[in-house]
Amino acid sequence: ANRFSTTGRPRSEALYQEALKHIVGGVNSPSRSFKAVGGGAPVFMKRGQGAYFWDEDGNRYIDYLAAYGPIILGHAHPRVTAAICRAAENGTLYGTPTELEIEFARMIKAAIPSLDKVRFVNSGTEAVMTTIRVARAYTGRNKIIKFAGCYHGHSDLVLVAAGSGPSTLGIPDSAGIPISIANEVITVPYNSVEALEAALERWGDEIAAVMVEPIVGNFGMVMPKPGFLEALCAAARRNGSLVIYDEVITAFRFHYGAAQTFDGLEAQSLGCIGEQVIKSPTSPGCMGEQVMKSPASLGDTGEQVSSTSLGCTGEQATKPPAGFAAIEPDLTALGKIIGGGLPIGAYGGRKEIMEQVAPLGPAYQAGTMAGNPASISAGIACLQALQEPGLYDRLDRLAAGLEAGLADAAREHGIALTINRIRGSLSTHFCAHPVSNYEEAQDTDGEQFARFFRLMLDQGVCLAPSKYEAWFLTSAHTDEDISATVEAAERAFAAMALP
Ligand code: PMP
Repeated sequence: ANRFSTTGRPRSEALYQEALKHIVGGVNSPSRSFKAVGGGAPVFMKRGQGAYFWDEDGNRYIDYLAAYGPIILGHAHPRVTAAICRAAENGTLYGTPTELEIEFARMIKAAIPSLDKVRFVNSGTEAVMTTIRVARAYTGRNKIIKFAGCYHGHSDLVLVAAGSGPSTLGIPDSAGIPISIANEVITVPYNSVEALEAALERWGDEIAAVMVEPIVGNFGMVMPKPGFLEALCAAARRNGSLVIYDEVITAFRFHYGAAQTFDGLEAQSLGCIGEQVIKSPTSPGCMGEQVMKSPASLGDTGEQVSSTSLGCTGEQATKPPAGFAAIEPDLTALGKIIGGGLPIGAYGGRKEIMEQVAPLGPAYQAGTMAGNPASISAGIACLQALQEPGLYDRLDRLAAGLEAGLADAAREHGIALTINRIRGSLSTHFCAHPVSNYEEAQDTDGEQFARFFRLMLDQGVCLAPSKYEAWFLTSAHTDEDISATVEAAERAFAAMALP
């Protein structure tokens, strides 16, 4: 008997039928639908606490969705809940500036030094959309370059050849976006400096900005190849284009800071992060098994200890000369974790660029809900909780155990599985090749993923219903949760291996 199995979901089925009558597709975001995993009713959740969800039928699930990223502290973290309640008691929206906004801006700037000035908005979509407007205002140019499979929200310009939801649903471009707008976007493969340079060569002085997820979270977790971000920044700057990092997923994900301040990027310049590389000894600069140790990261931005990569031959890890300037962007978009589970987005960057924004400059951007005391309070409480010593190392350790357990179970049952893991986040691609760009992520077995997804769900393990989404560990997960998940995966793989 399987002590984890759920008891069916009749209420979810019924609620889905009801939802379909009133809410388009029954869901308020397409990524929540089960369309990409064979269809049917998604699970209607009723309650979240720590690492767990309970659905409308009373089944319990270990949650690896983490609401697509924000819930890094688990559900209903007491500190965040208290902050939200306090804020609510004092009124949730003023339409005036507040001191809280200054405190939060200071916290974020301290963790991400490339941000001279910030502005709070309500979603990642808004944040990204505005960085593009600001880049266009600053450079007087119109086009942007983005990377295939990177998802930057649903605004017109970045929903061209986007990944995440859209690609899962097989909609490479959305209807309703004029060709004239799509023509302002050039999409090149992630991790290809050659393609980027060719695009810059061809469209040169029309390019306002190069937009990138510095570490990809939208076609699985994918690290930049050695030198990719350095080359990207250098090429953009030679061309007079701005560099925009979409750190909506990555900021405060791997350490207390952003990808742009993450010393793990240094380790990756040896080409040795993640299970994928372990299985691909041909990967540059890496031979055989490696261990990546990122140091604890309590508020330690900039001056971080070098990572160690054992078993790697070739180049030695070297610190970039001056902080992380070589990969520092001009503008950064933030969201998800910084709102502690309430709606938020933020963007920021170099002072002279940000001063393009109204009321100082000609680029307009506004928001009735922007900087509301509830979201800001939740964000402050979340970042404070993330400063707990050892928190990110614990996520790393738990995720390493999960990665090893999944890899062993897959191997045992002859399932081809590539796991990309970056500290507390990982992705599972059903394929035998490494995944370093969108094409490789697409070339994976979606049916096998769908099968795995459902087998896990029925054992009380909640993953995102898409082969492109990551698994996110939260500080609420325990060793016991990891063991239970690995056991569930063993049973799932065993079932999948049957003829
Ligand atoms: N950028 C990235 C990298 C994202 O992953 C997402 C959402 N998954 C967004 C932007 C859009 O954020 P939001 O859903 O808050 O609008």
